[in-house]
Amino acid sequence: MLIVQKYGGTSVGSAERIKAVAQRIAKTARDRSVVVVVSAMGKTTDGLVKLASDISSNPSRREMDMLLSTGEQVSIALMSMALQELGQPAISMTGAQVGIVTEAEHSRARILQIKTDRIERQLKEGKVVVVAGFQGISRSEELEITTLGRGGSDTSAVALAAALQAERCEIYTDVPGILTTDPRLVPEAQLMPEITCDEMLELASLGAKVLHPRAVEIARNYGVPLLVLSSWTDDPGTRVISSTPQRPALQDLELAKSVDAVEYNTDQAAVSMLRVPDRPGVAARLFGGIAEQKIDVDLIIQSIHEGNTNDIAFTVSKDVLKKATAVAEAILPALGKNNDPVLGEPEVRGEDKAVAKVSIVGAGIIGRPRVAARMFATLADAGVNILMISTSEVKVSCVIAAEDCDKAVAVLCEAFEVKVSPVPEEKLESLADESIPAVRGVALDRKQAGLAVRKIPDRPGMAAKIFGLLAEQNISVDTIVQSQRSRRINGVLTRDLVFTVAEGDGELARETLLENAAECGWQDVELQRAIAKVSAVGAGMVAHPGVAAKMFKVLADAQINILTIATSEIKISCVVDEENGVKALQAVHTAFGLSLNY
Ligand code: ASP
Ligand code: MG
Repeated sequence: MLIVQKYGGTSVGSAERIKAVAQRIAKTARDRSVVVVVSAMGKTTDGLVKLASDISSNPSRREMDMLLSTGEQVSIALMSMALQELGQPAISMTGAQVGIVTEAEHSRARILQIKTDRIERQLKEGKVVVVAGFQGISRSEELEITTLGRGGSDTSAVALAAALQAERCEIYTDVPGILTTDPRLVPEAQLMPEITCDEMLELASLGAKVLHPRAVEIARNYGVPLLVLSSWTDDPGTRVISSTPQRPALQDLELAKSVDAVEYNTDQAAVSMLRVPDRPGVAARLFGGIAEQKIDVDLIIQSIHEGNTNDIAFTVSKDVLKKATAVAEAILPALGKNNDPVLGEPEVRGEDKAVAKVSIVGAGIIGRPRVAARMFATLADAGVNILMISTSEVKVSCVIAAEDCDKAVAVLCEAFEVKVSPVPEEKLESLADESIPAVRGVALDRKQAGLAVRKIPDRPGMAAKIFGLLAEQNISVDTIVQSQRSRRINGVLTRDLVFTVAEGDGELARETLLENAAECGWQDVELQRAIAKVSAVGAGMVAHPGVAAKMFKVLADAQINILTIATSEIKISCVVDEENGVKALQAVHTAFGLSLNY
Protein backbone atom coordinates (compact mmCIF):
# COMPACT_ATOMS: atom_id res chain seq x y z
CA MET A 1 0.00 0.00 0.00
CA LEU A 2 1.39 3.32 -1.08
CA ILE A 3 0.32 6.84 -0.16
CA VAL A 4 1.57 10.11 -1.62
CA GLN A 5 1.46 13.05 0.80
CA LYS A 6 2.04 16.62 -0.23
CA TYR A 7 2.87 19.39 2.24
CA GLY A 8 2.53 23.03 1.18
CA GLY A 9 4.76 25.97 2.05
CA THR A 10 3.13 26.87 5.38
CA SER A 11 3.26 23.25 6.54
CA VAL A 12 7.04 23.26 6.15
CA GLY A 13 7.48 26.97 6.96
CA SER A 14 9.97 26.53 9.85
CA ALA A 15 12.25 23.93 11.42
CA GLU A 16 9.57 23.38 14.08
CA ARG A 17 6.91 22.72 11.53
CA ILE A 18 9.12 20.42 9.51
CA LYS A 19 9.73 18.38 12.66
CA ALA A 20 6.00 18.25 13.42
CA VAL A 21 5.18 17.14 9.87
CA ALA A 22 7.95 14.52 10.01
CA GLN A 23 6.21 12.97 13.04
CA ARG A 24 3.04 12.63 11.06
CA ILE A 25 4.85 11.09 8.09
CA ALA A 26 6.78 8.66 10.27
CA LYS A 27 3.51 7.51 11.83
CA THR A 28 1.98 6.80 8.42
CA ALA A 29 5.18 5.07 7.28
CA ARG A 30 4.86 2.46 10.03
CA ASP A 31 2.45 0.35 8.05
CA ARG A 32 2.72 1.55 4.46
CA SER A 33 5.02 3.03 1.84
CA VAL A 34 5.04 6.81 1.71
CA VAL A 35 6.20 9.24 -0.95
CA VAL A 36 6.28 12.82 0.30
CA VAL A 37 6.16 15.89 -1.95
CA VAL A 38 7.04 19.24 -0.45
CA SER A 39 6.84 22.89 -1.50
CA ALA A 40 9.42 25.52 -0.72
CA MET A 41 9.40 26.79 2.87
CA GLY A 42 6.85 29.52 3.60
CA LYS A 43 7.09 32.39 1.15
CA THR A 44 10.50 31.33 -0.19
CA THR A 45 9.41 31.26 -3.84
CA ASP A 46 7.93 34.78 -3.60
CA GLY A 47 11.20 35.92 -2.04
CA LEU A 48 13.21 34.45 -4.90
CA VAL A 49 10.96 36.14 -7.46
CA LYS A 50 11.53 39.44 -5.68
CA LEU A 51 15.27 38.88 -5.62
CA ALA A 52 15.32 38.27 -9.36
CA SER A 53 13.31 41.43 -10.00
CA ASP A 54 15.91 43.42 -8.06
CA ILE A 55 18.45 42.33 -10.65
CA SER A 56 16.50 42.17 -13.88
CA SER A 57 13.15 43.51 -15.00
CA ASN A 58 12.87 40.74 -17.55
CA PRO A 59 14.94 37.75 -16.43
CA SER A 60 15.27 34.79 -18.77
CA ARG A 61 12.76 32.07 -18.01
CA ARG A 62 15.51 29.49 -17.95
CA GLU A 63 17.36 31.31 -15.18
CA MET A 64 14.11 31.84 -13.29
CA ASP A 65 13.57 28.07 -13.26
CA MET A 66 17.13 27.55 -12.11
CA LEU A 67 16.47 29.99 -9.27
CA LEU A 68 12.95 29.01 -8.19
CA SER A 69 13.65 25.30 -8.19
CA THR A 70 16.13 25.81 -5.35
CA GLY A 71 13.38 26.53 -2.82
CA GLU A 72 12.05 22.97 -2.90
CA GLN A 73 15.55 21.55 -2.74
CA VAL A 74 15.99 23.12 0.69
CA SER A 75 12.80 21.62 2.06
CA ILE A 76 13.39 18.07 0.78
CA ALA A 77 16.81 17.90 2.44
CA LEU A 78 15.50 19.26 5.75
CA MET A 79 12.45 16.99 5.71
CA SER A 80 14.59 13.97 5.00
CA MET A 81 16.91 14.88 7.88
CA ALA A 82 13.96 15.35 10.22
CA LEU A 83 12.68 11.87 9.34
CA GLN A 84 16.09 10.31 9.81
CA GLU A 85 16.32 12.06 13.17
CA LEU A 86 13.18 10.17 14.20
CA GLY A 87 14.77 6.90 13.14
CA GLN A 88 12.72 6.74 9.95
CA PRO A 89 14.93 5.92 6.94
CA ALA A 90 14.37 8.57 4.26
CA ILE A 91 15.96 9.94 1.11
CA SER A 92 15.40 13.24 -0.68
CA MET A 93 15.24 13.51 -4.47
CA THR A 94 14.98 16.37 -6.92
CA GLY A 95 12.57 16.24 -9.82
CA ALA A 96 15.44 15.28 -12.11
CA GLN A 97 16.61 12.46 -9.88
CA VAL A 98 13.11 11.02 -9.74
CA GLY A 99 12.75 11.34 -13.49
CA ILE A 100 9.83 13.76 -13.63
CA VAL A 101 10.12 14.39 -17.34
CA THR A 102 8.46 17.54 -18.68
CA GLU A 103 8.21 19.55 -21.85
CA ALA A 104 11.14 21.90 -22.46
CA GLU A 105 8.87 24.83 -21.66
CA HIS A 106 10.43 26.94 -18.91
CA SER A 107 8.26 28.30 -16.08
CA ARG A 108 5.13 26.43 -17.19
CA ALA A 109 6.22 22.94 -18.17
CA ARG A 110 3.72 20.12 -18.29
CA ILE A 111 4.61 16.68 -17.01
CA LEU A 112 5.01 14.11 -19.76
CA GLN A 113 6.15 11.09 -17.86
CA ILE A 114 7.49 9.90 -14.54
CA LYS A 115 10.04 7.13 -14.34
CA THR A 116 9.12 5.25 -11.23
CA ASP A 117 11.90 2.64 -10.91
CA ARG A 118 14.29 4.67 -8.78
CA ILE A 119 11.55 5.64 -6.30
CA GLU A 120 10.30 2.07 -6.21
CA ARG A 121 13.77 0.75 -5.37
CA GLN A 122 14.06 3.16 -2.45
CA LEU A 123 10.58 2.33 -1.21
CA LYS A 124 11.44 -1.37 -1.23
CA GLU A 125 14.38 -0.60 1.03
CA GLY A 126 11.89 0.81 3.52
CA LYS A 127 12.69 4.47 2.97
CA VAL A 128 10.32 7.37 2.78
CA VAL A 129 11.09 9.16 -0.48
CA VAL A 130 10.91 12.95 -0.20
CA VAL A 131 10.45 14.53 -3.63
CA ALA A 132 10.84 18.17 -4.60
CA GLY A 133 7.54 19.46 -5.92
CA PHE A 134 7.08 22.02 -8.70
CA GLN A 135 10.15 20.94 -10.71
CA GLY A 136 11.10 18.54 -13.46
CA ILE A 137 13.63 17.92 -16.16
CA SER A 138 13.22 18.35 -19.89
CA ARG A 139 13.30 15.34 -22.16
CA SER A 140 15.83 16.95 -24.47
CA GLU A 141 19.49 15.99 -24.29
CA GLU A 142 20.20 19.22 -22.44
CA LEU A 143 18.38 17.98 -19.33
CA GLU A 144 17.13 21.43 -18.52
CA ILE A 145 15.62 22.08 -15.09
CA THR A 146 12.01 23.14 -15.55
CA THR A 147 9.25 24.32 -13.22
CA LEU A 148 5.56 23.61 -13.57
CA GLY A 149 4.19 27.08 -12.85
CA ARG A 150 3.31 28.67 -9.50
CA GLY A 151 1.48 26.37 -7.15
CA GLY A 152 2.77 23.43 -9.17
CA SER A 153 3.71 21.06 -6.37
CA ASP A 154 0.10 19.87 -6.11
CA THR A 155 0.52 18.79 -9.72
CA SER A 156 3.77 16.97 -8.93
CA ALA A 157 2.08 15.07 -6.10
CA VAL A 158 -0.97 13.93 -8.05
CA ALA A 159 1.12 13.01 -11.09
CA LEU A 160 3.38 10.89 -8.86
CA ALA A 161 0.33 9.23 -7.32
CA ALA A 162 -0.97 8.41 -10.81
CA ALA A 163 2.37 7.07 -12.03
CA LEU A 164 2.96 4.98 -8.89
CA GLN A 165 -0.69 3.88 -8.80
CA ALA A 166 -0.89 5.02 -5.22
CA GLU A 167 -3.85 4.15 -3.06
CA ARG A 168 -4.49 7.87 -2.65
CA CYS A 169 -2.91 11.30 -2.68
CA GLU A 170 -3.22 13.47 0.42
CA ILE A 171 -2.76 17.22 0.08
CA TYR A 172 -1.93 18.83 3.44
CA THR A 173 -2.55 22.56 3.79
CA ASP A 174 -3.17 25.18 6.46
CA VAL A 175 -6.96 25.06 6.02
CA PRO A 176 -9.22 22.17 7.07
CA GLY A 177 -10.18 21.29 3.47
CA ILE A 178 -12.39 22.77 0.75
CA LEU A 179 -15.08 25.08 2.10
CA THR A 180 -18.52 25.77 0.64
CA THR A 181 -17.47 29.37 0.02
CA ASP A 182 -14.94 32.00 1.06
CA PRO A 183 -15.11 32.17 4.89
CA ARG A 184 -13.86 35.75 4.90
CA LEU A 185 -17.04 36.78 3.08
CA VAL A 186 -19.43 34.24 4.56
CA PRO A 187 -18.46 33.24 8.11
CA GLU A 188 -20.97 30.36 8.00
CA ALA A 189 -18.93 28.60 5.29
CA GLN A 190 -18.76 24.88 6.01
CA LEU A 191 -16.24 22.20 5.24
CA MET A 192 -17.33 20.05 2.27
CA PRO A 193 -16.92 16.38 3.08
CA GLU A 194 -16.78 15.55 -0.62
CA ILE A 195 -16.64 17.20 -4.04
CA THR A 196 -16.19 15.84 -7.57
CA CYS A 197 -13.23 16.85 -9.72
CA ASP A 198 -15.55 18.47 -12.26
CA GLU A 199 -17.16 20.61 -9.58
CA MET A 200 -13.77 21.49 -8.18
CA LEU A 201 -12.64 22.72 -11.59
CA GLU A 202 -15.73 24.90 -11.99
CA LEU A 203 -15.00 26.32 -8.54
CA ALA A 204 -11.43 27.18 -9.53
CA SER A 205 -11.84 30.77 -8.39
CA LEU A 206 -12.70 29.49 -4.91
CA GLY A 207 -10.45 26.48 -4.56
CA ALA A 208 -7.42 27.02 -6.79
CA LYS A 209 -5.34 28.32 -3.91
CA VAL A 210 -6.01 25.15 -1.97
CA LEU A 211 -5.72 22.74 -4.85
CA HIS A 212 -4.25 23.57 -8.24
CA PRO A 213 -6.62 22.91 -11.19
CA ARG A 214 -3.96 20.98 -13.10
CA ALA A 215 -3.68 18.58 -10.19
CA VAL A 216 -7.45 18.15 -10.18
CA GLU A 217 -7.42 17.39 -13.89
CA ILE A 218 -4.80 14.65 -13.51
CA ALA A 219 -6.74 13.17 -10.59
CA ARG A 220 -9.87 13.11 -12.72
CA ASN A 221 -8.18 11.62 -15.78
CA TYR A 222 -6.42 8.87 -13.86
CA GLY A 223 -9.01 8.31 -11.15
CA VAL A 224 -6.58 9.18 -8.35
CA PRO A 225 -8.44 9.45 -5.01
CA LEU A 226 -7.56 12.83 -3.55
CA LEU A 227 -7.89 14.10 -0.02
CA VAL A 228 -7.39 17.71 1.06
CA LEU A 229 -6.74 18.12 4.77
CA SER A 230 -5.11 20.18 7.46
CA SER A 231 -1.52 19.55 8.55
CA TRP A 232 -2.38 20.52 12.12
CA THR A 233 -5.45 18.51 13.00
CA ASP A 234 -6.77 14.99 12.54
CA ASP A 235 -9.99 16.19 10.95
CA PRO A 236 -11.22 14.21 7.96
CA GLY A 237 -10.82 16.97 5.35
CA THR A 238 -12.44 16.94 1.89
CA ARG A 239 -12.47 13.98 -0.48
CA VAL A 240 -12.09 15.02 -4.12
CA ILE A 241 -13.62 12.23 -6.18
CA SER A 242 -13.65 11.45 -9.88
CA SER A 243 -16.41 9.73 -11.76
CA THR A 244 -14.49 9.00 -14.94
CA PRO A 245 -12.76 5.66 -15.31
CA GLN A 246 -9.02 5.44 -15.15
CA ARG A 247 -7.08 6.20 -18.27
CA PRO A 248 -4.45 3.52 -18.50
CA ALA A 249 -1.64 5.03 -20.59
CA LEU A 250 0.87 6.96 -18.53
CA GLN A 251 2.55 8.49 -21.55
CA ASP A 252 1.91 12.21 -21.82
CA LEU A 253 0.67 12.24 -18.29
CA GLU A 254 -0.46 15.81 -18.43
CA LEU A 255 -2.12 16.42 -21.72
CA ALA A 256 -0.19 19.09 -23.49
CA LYS A 257 -3.60 20.13 -24.75
CA SER A 258 -5.79 22.83 -23.35
CA VAL A 259 -8.95 21.01 -24.33
CA ASP A 260 -9.94 17.55 -23.11
CA ALA A 261 -12.97 16.88 -25.21
CA VAL A 262 -15.57 18.20 -27.60
CA GLU A 263 -19.16 17.58 -26.52
CA TYR A 264 -22.37 18.16 -28.35
CA ASN A 265 -26.05 18.04 -27.85
CA THR A 266 -28.54 17.99 -30.70
CA ASP A 267 -32.30 18.24 -30.92
CA GLN A 268 -32.46 21.42 -28.97
CA ALA A 269 -34.51 24.51 -29.54
CA ALA A 270 -34.04 28.04 -28.29
CA VAL A 271 -36.58 30.33 -26.65
CA SER A 272 -35.80 33.97 -26.11
CA MET A 273 -37.44 36.83 -24.31
CA LEU A 274 -36.27 40.01 -25.90
CA ARG A 275 -36.23 43.55 -24.53
CA VAL A 276 -37.53 42.67 -21.07
CA PRO A 277 -37.13 45.32 -18.36
CA ASP A 278 -33.85 45.31 -16.46
CA ARG A 279 -35.11 44.87 -12.90
CA PRO A 280 -34.95 42.24 -10.18
CA GLY A 281 -37.30 39.30 -10.49
CA VAL A 282 -37.79 38.80 -14.23
CA ALA A 283 -35.53 35.76 -14.58
CA ALA A 284 -36.91 34.36 -11.32
CA ARG A 285 -40.45 34.60 -12.64
CA LEU A 286 -39.64 33.05 -16.02
CA PHE A 287 -37.66 30.08 -14.71
CA GLY A 288 -40.02 29.63 -11.78
CA GLY A 289 -42.78 29.08 -14.35
CA ILE A 290 -40.56 26.79 -16.41
CA ALA A 291 -39.68 24.69 -13.34
CA GLU A 292 -43.35 24.44 -12.37
CA GLN A 293 -44.05 22.89 -15.75
CA LYS A 294 -41.21 20.44 -15.09
CA ILE A 295 -39.41 21.50 -18.24
CA ASP A 296 -35.71 20.70 -18.30
CA VAL A 297 -33.68 23.71 -19.29
CA ASP A 298 -30.18 23.30 -20.63
CA LEU A 299 -28.31 26.52 -21.35
CA ILE A 300 -29.47 29.83 -19.88
CA ILE A 301 -28.03 33.15 -20.88
CA GLN A 302 -28.98 36.71 -20.22
CA SER A 303 -27.26 39.77 -21.49
CA ILE A 304 -27.95 43.41 -20.98
CA HIS A 305 -28.50 45.84 -23.80
CA GLU A 306 -28.88 49.49 -24.41
CA GLY A 307 -32.05 51.14 -23.20
CA ASN A 308 -31.75 49.08 -20.01
CA THR A 309 -33.49 46.03 -21.29
CA ASN A 310 -32.35 42.43 -21.14
CA ASP A 311 -32.57 39.46 -23.41
CA ILE A 312 -32.99 36.13 -21.71
CA ALA A 313 -32.51 33.04 -23.83
CA PHE A 314 -32.52 29.38 -22.99
CA THR A 315 -32.49 26.05 -24.73
CA VAL A 316 -34.79 23.09 -24.16
CA SER A 317 -35.24 19.82 -25.92
CA LYS A 318 -37.17 20.30 -29.13
CA ASP A 319 -40.30 18.43 -28.08
CA VAL A 320 -41.06 20.85 -25.24
CA LEU A 321 -40.44 24.02 -27.22
CA LYS A 322 -44.16 24.88 -27.47
CA LYS A 323 -44.72 24.41 -23.76
CA ALA A 324 -41.68 26.52 -22.85
CA THR A 325 -42.68 29.28 -25.24
CA ALA A 326 -46.16 29.33 -23.72
CA VAL A 327 -44.72 29.83 -20.23
CA ALA A 328 -42.66 32.77 -21.43
CA GLU A 329 -45.63 34.29 -23.26
CA ALA A 330 -47.82 33.98 -20.21
CA ILE A 331 -45.63 36.24 -18.11
CA LEU A 332 -45.18 38.83 -20.85
CA PRO A 333 -48.19 41.02 -19.93
CA ALA A 334 -46.99 41.39 -16.35
CA LEU A 335 -43.69 42.90 -17.50
CA GLY A 336 -45.29 46.08 -18.77
CA LYS A 337 -44.34 48.13 -21.78
CA ASN A 338 -41.07 49.79 -22.69
CA ASN A 339 -42.89 52.66 -24.39
CA ASP A 340 -39.87 53.25 -26.56
CA PRO A 341 -40.64 53.33 -30.29
CA VAL A 342 -37.01 52.87 -31.32
CA LEU A 343 -36.35 49.99 -28.95
CA GLY A 344 -39.66 48.20 -29.32
CA GLU A 345 -41.69 46.16 -26.84
CA PRO A 346 -40.89 42.95 -24.93
CA GLU A 347 -41.34 39.92 -27.11
CA VAL A 348 -41.06 36.13 -26.92
CA ARG A 349 -39.53 34.11 -29.69
CA GLY A 350 -39.62 30.35 -29.82
CA GLU A 351 -37.25 29.58 -32.64
CA ASP A 352 -38.72 26.70 -34.56
CA LYS A 353 -35.38 25.86 -36.14
CA ALA A 354 -33.53 23.06 -34.41
CA VAL A 355 -30.27 24.11 -32.80
CA ALA A 356 -27.34 22.19 -31.39
CA LYS A 357 -24.92 22.97 -28.61
CA VAL A 358 -21.22 22.24 -29.12
CA SER A 359 -18.78 22.68 -26.27
CA ILE A 360 -15.08 22.41 -25.64
CA VAL A 361 -14.13 21.23 -22.17
CA GLY A 362 -10.85 21.25 -20.24
CA ALA A 363 -8.93 22.70 -17.32
CA GLY A 364 -6.51 24.18 -19.85
CA ILE A 365 -9.14 26.79 -20.70
CA ILE A 366 -8.63 28.47 -17.30
CA GLY A 367 -6.65 31.66 -17.78
CA ARG A 368 -5.94 31.10 -21.48
CA PRO A 369 -7.79 33.59 -23.65
CA ARG A 370 -6.55 32.00 -26.85
CA VAL A 371 -8.52 28.82 -26.40
CA ALA A 372 -11.99 30.35 -26.73
CA ALA A 373 -10.76 32.58 -29.56
CA ARG A 374 -9.49 29.49 -31.34
CA MET A 375 -12.83 27.74 -31.00
CA PHE A 376 -14.65 30.70 -32.53
CA ALA A 377 -12.08 30.97 -35.33
CA THR A 378 -12.35 27.27 -36.11
CA LEU A 379 -16.12 27.50 -36.41
CA ALA A 380 -15.82 30.63 -38.53
CA ASP A 381 -13.37 29.00 -40.93
CA ALA A 382 -15.87 26.21 -41.41
CA GLY A 383 -18.57 28.77 -42.18
CA VAL A 384 -20.53 28.01 -39.01
CA ASN A 385 -22.43 30.94 -37.55
CA ILE A 386 -22.63 31.14 -33.75
CA LEU A 387 -26.08 31.96 -32.42
CA MET A 388 -25.37 32.00 -28.69
CA ILE A 389 -22.30 31.66 -26.51
CA SER A 390 -22.07 30.76 -22.84
CA THR A 391 -18.83 30.13 -20.99
CA SER A 392 -17.82 28.80 -17.61
CA GLU A 393 -14.45 28.18 -16.02
CA VAL A 394 -13.68 24.99 -17.93
CA LYS A 395 -16.17 25.05 -20.78
CA VAL A 396 -17.09 27.14 -23.80
CA SER A 397 -20.48 26.34 -25.33
CA CYS A 398 -21.80 27.63 -28.63
CA VAL A 399 -25.34 27.23 -29.88
CA ILE A 400 -25.40 26.78 -33.65
CA ALA A 401 -27.88 25.65 -36.31
CA ALA A 402 -28.52 21.92 -35.96
CA GLU A 403 -27.51 21.23 -39.55
CA ASP A 404 -24.02 22.59 -38.81
CA CYS A 405 -23.46 20.28 -35.85
CA ASP A 406 -21.60 17.39 -37.52
CA LYS A 407 -19.31 19.75 -39.34
CA ALA A 408 -18.64 21.81 -36.21
CA VAL A 409 -17.79 18.77 -34.12
CA ALA A 410 -15.45 17.46 -36.82
CA VAL A 411 -13.49 20.70 -37.24
CA LEU A 412 -13.24 21.26 -33.49
CA CYS A 413 -11.94 17.74 -32.86
CA GLU A 414 -9.37 18.31 -35.54
CA ALA A 415 -8.32 21.75 -34.33
CA PHE A 416 -7.91 20.69 -30.71
CA GLU A 417 -6.69 17.18 -31.53
CA VAL A 418 -9.26 15.47 -29.36
CA LYS A 419 -11.88 12.83 -29.82
CA VAL A 420 -15.53 13.53 -29.45
CA SER A 421 -16.49 12.60 -25.92
CA PRO A 422 -19.10 10.05 -24.92
CA VAL A 423 -22.63 11.05 -25.85
CA PRO A 424 -23.53 13.77 -23.36
CA GLU A 425 -26.84 12.07 -22.57
CA GLU A 426 -25.05 9.08 -21.11
CA LYS A 427 -22.73 11.27 -19.16
CA LEU A 428 -25.61 13.27 -17.80
CA GLU A 429 -27.47 10.14 -16.77
CA SER A 430 -24.50 8.97 -14.77
CA LEU A 431 -24.50 12.37 -13.12
CA ALA A 432 -28.20 12.30 -12.40
CA ASP A 433 -27.80 10.89 -8.94
CA GLU A 434 -30.37 12.25 -6.49
CA SER A 435 -27.99 11.91 -3.57
CA ILE A 436 -25.58 14.53 -4.92
CA PRO A 437 -26.44 17.96 -3.50
CA ALA A 438 -27.81 20.38 -6.11
CA VAL A 439 -25.29 23.00 -5.10
CA ARG A 440 -21.98 22.03 -3.57
CA GLY A 441 -20.34 25.40 -3.29
CA VAL A 442 -20.71 29.05 -4.25
CA ALA A 443 -18.04 31.49 -5.32
CA LEU A 444 -17.71 35.22 -5.80
CA ASP A 445 -15.42 36.76 -8.36
CA ARG A 446 -14.91 40.41 -7.63
CA LYS A 447 -12.71 42.90 -9.35
CA GLN A 448 -14.15 42.30 -12.77
CA ALA A 449 -15.27 44.72 -15.42
CA GLY A 450 -18.07 44.12 -17.88
CA LEU A 451 -17.79 44.99 -21.55
CA ALA A 452 -20.46 45.12 -24.18
CA VAL A 453 -19.82 45.10 -27.91
CA ARG A 454 -22.91 46.04 -29.86
CA LYS A 455 -24.21 45.86 -33.39
CA ILE A 456 -21.77 43.24 -34.54
CA PRO A 457 -22.53 42.05 -38.08
CA ASP A 458 -24.12 38.61 -37.77
CA ARG A 459 -21.70 36.52 -39.81
CA PRO A 460 -19.18 33.82 -39.02
CA GLY A 461 -15.86 35.04 -37.66
CA MET A 462 -16.84 38.01 -35.55
CA ALA A 463 -16.44 36.36 -32.13
CA ALA A 464 -13.15 34.93 -33.34
CA LYS A 465 -12.03 38.41 -34.30
CA ILE A 466 -13.01 40.01 -31.00
CA PHE A 467 -11.47 37.40 -28.73
CA GLY A 468 -8.46 37.02 -30.99
CA LEU A 469 -7.72 40.73 -30.62
CA LEU A 470 -8.03 40.48 -26.84
CA ALA A 471 -5.87 37.37 -26.71
CA GLU A 472 -3.15 39.22 -28.61
CA GLN A 473 -3.16 41.76 -25.78
CA ASN A 474 -3.02 38.89 -23.30
CA ILE A 475 -6.35 39.84 -21.81
CA SER A 476 -8.05 36.91 -20.15
CA VAL A 477 -11.76 36.90 -20.73
CA ASP A 478 -14.05 35.40 -18.16
CA THR A 479 -17.75 34.90 -18.78
CA ILE A 480 -18.76 35.43 -22.40
CA VAL A 481 -22.41 35.73 -23.31
CA GLN A 482 -23.93 36.21 -26.71
CA SER A 483 -27.66 36.38 -26.81
CA GLN A 484 -30.22 36.03 -29.53
CA ARG A 485 -31.10 39.68 -29.98
CA SER A 486 -30.55 40.67 -33.52
CA ARG A 487 -31.36 43.88 -35.24
CA ARG A 488 -31.16 45.04 -38.80
CA ILE A 489 -29.01 48.09 -39.41
CA ASN A 490 -28.88 49.34 -43.00
CA GLY A 491 -29.99 45.93 -44.11
CA VAL A 492 -27.29 44.09 -42.15
CA LEU A 493 -28.31 41.74 -39.34
CA THR A 494 -26.35 42.50 -36.16
CA ARG A 495 -25.91 40.97 -32.71
CA ASP A 496 -24.54 42.04 -29.32
CA LEU A 497 -21.99 40.33 -27.13
CA VAL A 498 -21.05 40.87 -23.48
CA PHE A 499 -18.17 39.50 -21.47
CA THR A 500 -16.15 40.18 -18.34
CA VAL A 501 -12.43 40.75 -17.86
CA ALA A 502 -10.25 41.50 -14.84
CA GLU A 503 -10.91 45.07 -13.68
CA GLY A 504 -7.36 46.11 -14.52
CA ASP A 505 -7.79 44.99 -18.14
CA GLY A 506 -11.10 46.76 -18.76
CA GLU A 507 -9.78 49.97 -20.25
CA LEU A 508 -7.24 48.22 -22.50
CA ALA A 509 -9.93 45.85 -23.73
CA ARG A 510 -12.21 48.75 -24.56
CA GLU A 511 -9.48 50.64 -26.42
CA THR A 512 -8.39 47.56 -28.35
CA LEU A 513 -11.91 46.88 -29.56
CA LEU A 514 -12.64 50.52 -30.31
CA GLU A 515 -9.51 50.83 -32.46
CA ASN A 516 -10.73 47.96 -34.57
CA ALA A 517 -14.39 48.92 -34.67
CA ALA A 518 -14.45 50.58 -38.06
CA GLU A 519 -12.46 47.86 -39.77
CA CYS A 520 -14.36 44.95 -38.24
CA GLY A 521 -17.83 46.39 -38.40
CA TRP A 522 -19.06 46.58 -34.82
CA GLN A 523 -20.44 49.90 -33.81
CA ASP A 524 -20.36 50.34 -30.11
CA VAL A 525 -18.02 49.27 -27.31
CA GLU A 526 -19.03 50.03 -23.76
CA LEU A 527 -17.14 49.49 -20.53
CA GLN A 528 -19.78 48.82 -17.90
CA ARG A 529 -19.86 49.56 -14.21
CA ALA A 530 -17.92 47.58 -11.65
CA ILE A 531 -19.40 44.14 -11.40
CA ALA A 532 -19.06 40.88 -9.51
CA LYS A 533 -19.92 37.35 -10.51
CA VAL A 534 -21.71 34.95 -8.19
CA SER A 535 -21.61 31.28 -9.18
CA ALA A 536 -23.28 28.19 -7.81
CA VAL A 537 -21.71 24.85 -8.69
CA GLY A 538 -23.08 21.35 -8.19
CA ALA A 539 -23.19 18.15 -10.19
CA GLY A 540 -26.57 17.47 -8.59
CA MET A 541 -28.15 20.28 -10.61
CA VAL A 542 -28.72 17.76 -13.34
CA ALA A 543 -31.01 15.68 -11.14
CA HIS A 544 -32.67 18.59 -9.35
CA PRO A 545 -34.62 20.75 -11.79
CA GLY A 546 -35.38 24.28 -10.72
CA VAL A 547 -31.98 25.10 -9.27
CA ALA A 548 -31.55 28.04 -11.64
CA ALA A 549 -35.06 29.26 -10.85
CA LYS A 550 -34.27 29.12 -7.15
CA MET A 551 -31.03 31.04 -7.53
CA PHE A 552 -32.75 33.79 -9.53
CA LYS A 553 -35.54 33.94 -6.95
CA VAL A 554 -33.10 34.30 -4.07
CA LEU A 555 -31.46 37.23 -5.81
CA ALA A 556 -34.82 38.80 -6.65
CA ASP A 557 -35.98 38.47 -3.03
CA ALA A 558 -32.81 40.26 -1.96
CA GLN A 559 -33.68 43.02 -4.47
CA ILE A 560 -30.52 42.29 -6.45
CA ASN A 561 -30.65 42.93 -10.16
CA ILE A 562 -29.02 40.31 -12.41
CA LEU A 563 -27.06 41.84 -15.28
CA THR A 564 -25.82 38.73 -17.06
CA ILE A 565 -26.46 35.01 -16.75
CA ALA A 566 -24.29 32.21 -18.11
CA THR A 567 -24.63 28.52 -17.36
CA SER A 568 -22.95 25.18 -17.97
CA GLU A 569 -24.40 21.81 -16.95
CA ILE A 570 -23.12 22.07 -13.39
CA LYS A 571 -22.74 25.81 -12.91
CA ILE A 572 -24.92 28.90 -12.89
CA SER A 573 -23.22 32.30 -12.89
CA CYS A 574 -24.93 35.63 -12.38
CA VAL A 575 -23.18 38.93 -12.89
CA VAL A 576 -24.41 41.63 -10.52
CA ASP A 577 -23.31 45.13 -9.52
CA GLU A 578 -20.14 44.89 -7.48
CA GLU A 579 -21.75 46.50 -4.44
CA ASN A 580 -24.27 43.62 -4.34
CA GLY A 581 -21.67 40.88 -4.67
CA VAL A 582 -21.18 39.85 -1.05
CA LYS A 583 -24.88 40.16 -0.24
CA ALA A 584 -25.68 37.95 -3.24
CA LEU A 585 -23.08 35.38 -2.22
CA GLN A 586 -24.45 35.21 1.31
CA ALA A 587 -28.03 34.90 0.13
CA VAL A 588 -27.27 32.08 -2.31
CA HIS A 589 -25.08 30.26 0.21
CA THR A 590 -27.89 30.26 2.77
CA ALA A 591 -30.67 29.45 0.31
CA PHE A 592 -29.00 26.22 -0.80
CA GLY A 593 -28.56 25.05 2.78
CA LEU A 594 -24.79 25.39 2.76
CA SER A 595 -24.72 27.38 5.97
CA LEU A 596 -26.03 24.39 7.92
CA ASN A 597 -23.86 21.62 9.19
CA TYR A 598 -23.90 18.56 7.00
N1 ASP B 1 6.89 26.81 -4.39
C1 ASP B 1 6.11 26.92 -5.57
C2 ASP B 1 5.25 28.17 -5.48
O1 ASP B 1 5.26 28.86 -4.49
C3 ASP B 1 5.30 25.69 -5.83
C4 ASP B 1 4.26 25.36 -4.81
O2 ASP B 1 4.34 25.77 -3.67
O3 ASP B 1 3.31 24.67 -5.15
O4 ASP B 1 4.57 28.47 -6.41
MG1 MG C 1 -0.42 25.53 -3.11
